[in-house]
Amino acid sequence: MAYVITDDCVCCGTCIDECPVGAISEGADKYSINADDCADCGTCADSCPNDAIKEG
Ligand code: SF4
Repeated sequence: MAYVITDDCVCCGTCIDECPVGAISEGADKYSINADDCADCGTCADSCPNDAIKEG
């Protein structure tokens, strides 16, 4: 299962540099994770200061 970014995302950009496989992209309202690329490592969830990333 891929991780998902919830509506708690405030687009701070912290996670995008942490993902080892480049699965996170910037969106209009929030960042998103490409489920096909996500390696399910959890690094982004640990890095999010707003606790906006959850296991899908
Ligand atoms: Fe990237 Fe790991 Fe987060 Fe998946 S769980 S988006 S591979 S940092």
